[in-house]
Amino acid sequence: MKKKIANWGNYPVIESEERSFRFTEELIDLIKHTNRFTPRGNGRCYGDAALSKETISSLKYNKILSFDINAGLFECQSGLTLDKILEIIVPSGWFLPVTPGTKFITIGGAVASDVHGKNHHIDGCFSKHVLEMDILLASGEMSTCSPYDNADLFMATCGGMGLTGIITRVKFKLKKIETSYIAQKQIKAANLEEVLDLFEKNKQYTYSVAWIDCLKKGKHFGRSILILGEHAGIGEIPKKNKLNPLALPNKKQIKFPFYLPSWVLNKLTVSIFNWLFYHKNTKKVINNVVSYEPFFYPLDAILDWNKGYGKKGFIQYQFVVPIEGKQGLVEILKKISDQGIGSFLAVLKIFGNDESLISFPMKGYTLALDIPVTDKLWPFLDELDKIVISYGGRLYMSKDARMHPEMLEKGYPGLSEFKKIIRKFNLQKKIYSIQSDRLNIT
Ligand SMILES: Cc1cc2nc3c(=O)[nH]c(=O)nc-3n(C[C@H](O)[C@H](O)[C@H](O)COP(=O)(O)OP(=O)(O)OC[C@H]3O[C@@H](n4cnc5c(N)ncnc54)[C@H](O)[C@@H]3O)c2cc1C
Repeated sequence: MKKKIANWGNYPVIESEERSFRFTEELIDLIKHTNRFTPRGNGRCYGDAALSKETISSLKYNKILSFDINAGLFECQSGLTLDKILEIIVPSGWFLPVTPGTKFITIGGAVASDVHGKNHHIDGCFSKHVLEMDILLASGEMSTCSPYDNADLFMATCGGMGLTGIITRVKFKLKKIETSYIAQKQIKAANLEEVLDLFEKNKQYTYSVAWIDCLKKGKHFGRSILILGEHAGIGEIPKKNKLNPLALPNKKQIKFPFYLPSWVLNKLTVSIFNWLFYHKNTKKVINNVVSYEPFFYPLDAILDWNKGYGKKGFIQYQFVVPIEGKQGLVEILKKISDQGIGSFLAVLKIFGNDESLISFPMKGYTLALDIPVTDKLWPFLDELDKIVISYGGRLYMSKDARMHPEMLEKGYPGLSEFKKIIRKFNLQKKIYSIQSDRLNIT
């Protein structure tokens, strides 16, 4: 059945014939009888990956295949979402090795974007914890791969935006936890220089992220709140929680009721929001213990919050620049604050080393900015691209809806090797997306 679909940024919106499957045989049959198609998880990427005229959704293909509680090994079908996995593993004393800022993504999507979390500098991307997976190739043949077997297929699938085939089964390692709580430290930083310094000084923390007010100028340019965290030990949690230290958090969610009119988001309203966020912490440093939910997934508390950006949608512009290119970060934030472009708090993280073929992270700083779609946005983002490239950085494909192919080429040294592997496994470029065609990958 044809329907209108979009990813999280609600830009672009397209009409697509979406098909789903429950059994592997059904999927093989679907592939045989579908012309060109795009694999799709839960549509939580922001831009135009996972979109095309014909999509195959994994959401009904979502069984747990095995869970070794002693060794912390988990194996599932690709349509299972992280929220469901957490409900099973947390009460048994395990956690996801890497998690993005939302739990509403599928395991297939986690591999295809090779997602990163607040712990990249310590634990790397999701793929670092994958032991093996099955991929249904465009030919209809099932192939098992791992870092050691069919390694080229494995490498190009991690971060390969679904272009090698449909990921059907993933087996990965979990992280041991004593409690479901996080010992959190929040530090207010008066400006960008201070927050970058704090990141460096607190590298030993497993988790770190900063929320930046990108509209501030002058001596408060880049003022932020840095949030650090560790999985709390049993001795660190409040007495009342010790009876059930691995309790799942309460499901408290509110729903964003409708699309906000686009005029609501302007320099004034965004400045007020940012002011409130910065001043809600009255002390310079706050130490507390919180459930994992508000620490990892603060935005999941408001279902459909993307509607706040209006019907025209928004772009999440996420780039990374190497540590030595951090001046690029300053230049981009300056452009944002000068233009007064309505981005709420931007998210800043630090990345560690990464030797992947096509995954986004590289050792450096990454910043993610949400910006509403307007006609003025496109030339503005082209300007930002020039800065990113001049400092040796790149953009995250999973958030992208508009980068030019040259930008991808300049940012990703592994691109030609990646394209070679795609040609080998994705015969006749049967698997594609609007994004992969736009970027000349397929
Ligand atoms: C609020 C929010 C916060 C986020 N925070 C982060 C973050 O901190 N770090 C981060 O890395 N990302 C983050 N993301 C992005 C998100 O984690 C990724 O885009 C993820 O890939 C989405 O998974 P999905 O299941 O929704 O897949 P989709 O969005 O449906 O698809 C994403 C890509 O995966 C491919 N794909 C999906 N399933 C399969 C499959 N079975 N086989 C082959 N290919 C497949 C699609 O073709 C597409 O290219 C965030 C997104 C949101 C909405």
